[in-house]
Amino acid sequence: MKSYSPEQIWEMDKNHFIHPYTDFATFKDEGSQVVTGAKGTSITDSSGKSYLDGIAGLWCVNIGHGREEMANAIADQVMQMEYFNPFGHSTNTPGSILAAKLAELAPGDLNHVFYTCGGSTAIDSTIRLIHFYNNVRGKPDKKKIISRNDAYHGSTYVAANLTGIHATKYSFDRIANDWINHVSAANLYRRPLGAENLSEAEYTQFLVNEFENRIIQLGADSVAAFIAEPIMGAGGVLVAPEGYHKAMKAICEKYDILYIADEVVTGFGRLGHFFASKAIYDMQPDIIISAKGITSGYIPLGAAIISEKIYQVISKPQCEGGLFSMGFTYTGHPVACSAALKNIEIMERENICEHVQQVGAYFQEQICSLADLPIVGDCRGSHLMMGVEFVADKTNKTPFPMEAEISKRLFEHCAKLGLIVRPIGNIIVMSPPLTISREESDFATKTFRTSIEKTMDDLKRDGFL
Ligand code: PMP
Repeated sequence: MKSYSPEQIWEMDKNHFIHPYTDFATFKDEGSQVVTGAKGTSITDSSGKSYLDGIAGLWCVNIGHGREEMANAIADQVMQMEYFNPFGHSTNTPGSILAAKLAELAPGDLNHVFYTCGGSTAIDSTIRLIHFYNNVRGKPDKKKIISRNDAYHGSTYVAANLTGIHATKYSFDRIANDWINHVSAANLYRRPLGAENLSEAEYTQFLVNEFENRIIQLGADSVAAFIAEPIMGAGGVLVAPEGYHKAMKAICEKYDILYIADEVVTGFGRLGHFFASKAIYDMQPDIIISAKGITSGYIPLGAAIISEKIYQVISKPQCEGGLFSMGFTYTGHPVACSAALKNIEIMERENICEHVQQVGAYFQEQICSLADLPIVGDCRGSHLMMGVEFVADKTNKTPFPMEAEISKRLFEHCAKLGLIVRPIGNIIVMSPPLTISREESDFATKTFRTSIEKTMDDLKRDGFL
């Protein structure tokens, strides 16, 4: 590739590259950080400055950056057979081996895989697949999906409509009518009116009641599925109260509603297991959505892993739904599947899940130690998925006004000190590569603490504290 100066890159970027989730006004003025290198848990920018990657790219580079083995697996597959379509009765070796491996890793009877190009396409495909499933079952009216406020499920049309984050929900058009519904998020820190003083178990029951009432109101015969992330990610790292997922699943079973666990972030070791639903929450979903960590971000891939029960219906000979007419050119792309297989091999060989169980518990404890700072309202999360919510007043949980730009200030201080974090509203998220060491975890916590202290000085100076 021809080489360009950072200024030339900025220029081309500013003039031609439409970035996701971007405020174009500030983007034009401030330009971008050009990331030019990445190795292990670090990234380097075009000025040569190095940072601890506290967000694993975007919750995805689970095995760490720059692994030669991954490059070789990708190159070998390109040389062997870069692409041939998998439609109908044609297949490829890595796609088949990976499907069997995912069936082995996924809990219970989840043993059939539909591949896509990322998380959003896996969500959209799953909804189509569920609609097909209900058509085949002779239940053509059972189509509505229940999601949750503050959920993030992606950026394709249906996935974006399932998303319950305010900005995503209202800045673009919504699918008309009520076939996508949202119930409350499970937010222990900011509970709805009437639930403030409940115990965790009572709060779970409160949310379950809301869910059941919604099903009854919509008509159980019209509701096809419920979708939830085991821990909400982009919505602010929200950990559900004790027993929540299991209780929601029980309601799903009562009304013949499928439970879709969106494990795009929580899967592939982030919570110390290949999948969190069963291993941590003792809940057997009907479908697991995977992406991101499935290839550790080395190449795009998404997957919907569905149960034997669903497969038996959709694969019925001469089924009434007709041909399973759904799929992408790149469904089961051999290069992406090879990368996923190598990624899994590395995770198993290096016992990465066990490492996360240990270092993750330490990281969580360290990040939670920031709770003594006056603007830290809540530290939450699990293992290597943590969020810290900032407040102007701890007792009343009063948020900072938008103009205070709290997370932007925190992000900038962290970056100056060599740590990349993710700002989301009043929340800072951390989700480092799973290979992070205790020393790096200490560095992250220390740097974050210093950045919070510096931010407090700025806020005082600017009259926000
Ligand atoms: N689900 C969840 C929980 C996610 O966090 C994301 C992406 N951040 C998606 C779905 C969408 O995945 P993708 O961006 O790969 O389409």
